[in-house]
Amino acid sequence: MKTTLHTDITVKDICEWFAYNELEGKGLFGLSWKLTIQPEYQRNYIYADGKRDVAVIESILKGYPLGLIYFNKVGEEKFEVLDGQQRITSIGRYVTWKFAVKIDGMEQYFSGLAENLQKKILETPLLIYECEGEESEIKERFKTINIAGVPLNEQELLNAVYSGPFVTKAKEEFSNSQNANIQKWGAYLSGVVNRQDFLHTALERVSKGSIGDYMSKHRYDENISELKSYFTSVIDRISSVFSDVEKEMCGLERWKLYETYHKQSYDPKKISERVHELYADPYVKSRKGVFEYLLWGEVESKLLEVRVFDEATKKSVYAQQTKEANEKWISNCPLCALWHESNNKKIWSIWEMDADHVSAWSKGWATDITNCQMLCKSHNRAKGNK
Ligand SMILES: [Zn+2]
Repeated sequence: MKTTLHTDITVKDICEWFAYNELEGKGLFGLSWKLTIQPEYQRNYIYADGKRDVAVIESILKGYPLGLIYFNKVGEEKFEVLDGQQRITSIGRYVTWKFAVKIDGMEQYFSGLAENLQKKILETPLLIYECEGEESEIKERFKTINIAGVPLNEQELLNAVYSGPFVTKAKEEFSNSQNANIQKWGAYLSGVVNRQDFLHTALERVSKGSIGDYMSKHRYDENISELKSYFTSVIDRISSVFSDVEKEMCGLERWKLYETYHKQSYDPKKISERVHELYADPYVKSRKGVFEYLLWGEVESKLLEVRVFDEATKKSVYAQQTKEANEKWISNCPLCALWHESNNKKIWSIWEMDADHVSAWSKGWATDITNCQMLCKSHNRAKGNK
């Protein structure tokens, strides 16, 4: 099967002659009628709930990537949406004034948006994989998308969107296994070099979380000096506090602790004592979270991943959730059911899920069955990282 990545198709292009059928709840056409949004094998538009459709627009306004969209080429200048139909329909409906989004506390339709925001939305490029091949291959591909997720991670997507001299230089520095610094960084950061994890972390911190905006602003810069000096200074400070690097430090990748670092001084001896106490605490599940917990002044106890749900509780909650999910024909991971376009009907097995405290342990909530929910592993991890 042939695939081509397009990075030059914008929201404006997609919404050209956008057509939506209110009665059937289907997005019909876009891209000047070259695109069929709702092929037979796609489900109806389910994002029209004032949450998921709104979230798509908010993501665009914040400059977050919308993820990959897959088109199937079905003829000369004719395409069908293989994956991304819900996102495209949300965008099309917003641009054609079908719903409003709250901006600065006010419900705003597209028509009432400030001109620069309208422009921002329309000029946002979408990442589109065009697939061309036999129907059986396409179906196989669609299955892979659903099961394994997209082949590119967030940083790889951003690199594609903002390709230019800045990305080239940044990759030379941060994703180059020949760089002698990589091994040193590896003592403080976890990640896979060639999947852009170091670059992602560095950008996330220097941009204070707005990676897309930062990359857009610096796209045509010929140097990466700000990014590089920021990264180097963080590494130096971390290495000075933990003079003897413990092996759990390898997972210490939350650069937000830098902000704490340069304001406070730490006593390496005291830190070391507390580290050993917390290591001995049977409730503490995450050893690597211990460092960050201490550096943050022992307030964010969720970093320690205090999780003590027993097996019987997990099994019983799993059974209940799965029963309800089967009845409603939705995923048994409540976050997949709510958010995940591909997995929203997936029934996970119990060993593909983890127990989660509905309300955080750190806020004093109980670790019993009333406060337990099972989440798929990736959603559980995502929640723990917040
Ligand atoms: Zn999930």
